[in-house]
Amino acid sequence: MKIRDMVAPNPGPFTLSGTRTYLIDDFAVIDPGPAIDSHIEAIREAMPKLKKVFITHRHADHAPAALPLKSLTNAQIVAPAGGLEVIATPGHTSEHVCYLTPDRDLFTGDTILGEGTTAIFPPDGNMSDYIRSLEKLRQRNPRRIFPGHGPTRDDAIALIDEYIAHRMQREQQVIDALRAGAHTIPEMRRRIYRELDERLYGAAEVQIYAHLIKLQDEGRVDARDGAYYVSPRA
Ligand SMILES: [Zn+2]
Repeated sequence: MKIRDMVAPNPGPFTLSGTRTYLIDDFAVIDPGPAIDSHIEAIREAMPKLKKVFITHRHADHAPAALPLKSLTNAQIVAPAGGLEVIATPGHTSEHVCYLTPDRDLFTGDTILGEGTTAIFPPDGNMSDYIRSLEKLRQRNPRRIFPGHGPTRDDAIALIDEYIAHRMQREQQVIDALRAGAHTIPEMRRRIYRELDERLYGAAEVQIYAHLIKLQDEGRVDARDGAYYVSPRA
């Protein structure tokens, strides 16, 4: 399959240079992106024979352009077919999917980004599910990764391993912070994310919270009155 990419004009701390919209041969688009007129027009110009629109997940930077594209081009918003396999990858959102081509090219939406890491926002986002989804993708032995944000990666397996290792390291940092006496999420954030842009404090604290939920589900951490403790059973 011939793959081209376009970057939507929505750069930011979470979207990196902007959402990547992928054009597959001359008939399909994966993640049409935000409903920005110039972006929709650019997709239309690049894809005069557009037939199918695929979406990895429902977030505002990935899905909204699907509806105007459908009405402008008569393309269908579809479940995958024609060689694209859908892989359920809950974690970033509960309904997130990735798409795998017969050449083992993998479209990962926000499950794996081309640079940096993705954010898990509970309760729709779930860290346990997310790590299981990464392991599931690794088992499919993808060749290249076409992420929702950031550049295409030719080192798919190494990148997935890096993603899993990063989460395991973060989990260990949460446990270490608890053992060192940081029992609230802001205290843990100050220990774990030492040099962080203030605009990302909220997101960082939610990531810690996502790890704490996983650790509680596993019986390794207890919560009492808004504070967290390593479980005596762990
Ligand atoms: Zn996104």
